[in-house]
Amino acid sequence: MNHVKKSFDGNEVLKDISLSVEEGEVVSIIGPSGSGKSTLLRCATLLETMDDGDLYYSGDAAAKSVEQHAVYETGDKLRHIERQFGLVFQNFNLFPHFSVIKNIMDAPVRVQKRDKDEVRKEAVELLRKMGLSDRADYYPCQLSGGQKQRVSIARALAMNPKILFFDEPTSALDPELTGEILKVITELAKEKMTMVIVTHEMNFAKDVSDRMIFMDKGVIVEETTPKELFSSTNQRTREFLGKYH
Ligand code: ATP
Ligand code: MG
Repeated sequence: MNHVKKSFDGNEVLKDISLSVEEGEVVSIIGPSGSGKSTLLRCATLLETMDDGDLYYSGDAAAKSVEQHAVYETGDKLRHIERQFGLVFQNFNLFPHFSVIKNIMDAPVRVQKRDKDEVRKEAVELLRKMGLSDRADYYPCQLSGGQKQRVSIARALAMNPKILFFDEPTSALDPELTGEILKVITELAKEKMTMVIVTHEMNFAKDVSDRMIFMDKGVIVEETTPKELFSSTNQRTREFLGKYH
């Protein structure tokens, strides 16, 4: 991301944000409510247009503010870029009328037009990995919050994304269910999955991240290793982290 800016109704929510994520890296984004974390993820994943700045995936221009519409109009290119990322939200966003396995298989079959039997095999394997082998035929309403979130992680992984983005994946969960999701993400980090994680779970972020970004009021205040961030002398960083002690 290069010099990205985004305003809503004259309120500048992202002020000149530049950042890059390398393959295999785990980057956490922390910061107060309203600091622009979700907006940043939404711009990075093309859910939101940028007012200014450029976005690249693997060196390909995904969106340039000036030519953004041109890039959006070229469907093939957009699909190629969208294939590079998966998204996991706070509220799971599962299809309520689809079974667990169908939730996972839907996009690979319908969007990627992949072979159904092959996709089913992979979905079964992903469910095993998520500890949900016995839940394939359940519906989302029959699952706990933690199980729903594990299904949505499996669903994102089924697209074989190059990067996984998480927006507060545990904030809708009870503390005991939070742990099971953090464990799954930690496993993915060990497998060298590239991940960008917005979270309020400071201890988790400290353990799992190669790099941490502290955002406040639409700017990146600090971007460094967890160790350095937690011993930062920056006043804004200290004030924010102090709330978690
Ligand atoms: P939280 O930790 O509460 O999730 P956040 O850091 O993710 O906060 P954002 O959701 O990115 O914050 O919002 C940043 C600012 O942008 C907020 O002031 C919000 O009201 C505003 N905003 C976000 N999306 C929109 C929108 N679609 N229309 C208008 N304002 C918006
Ligand atoms: Mg948010």
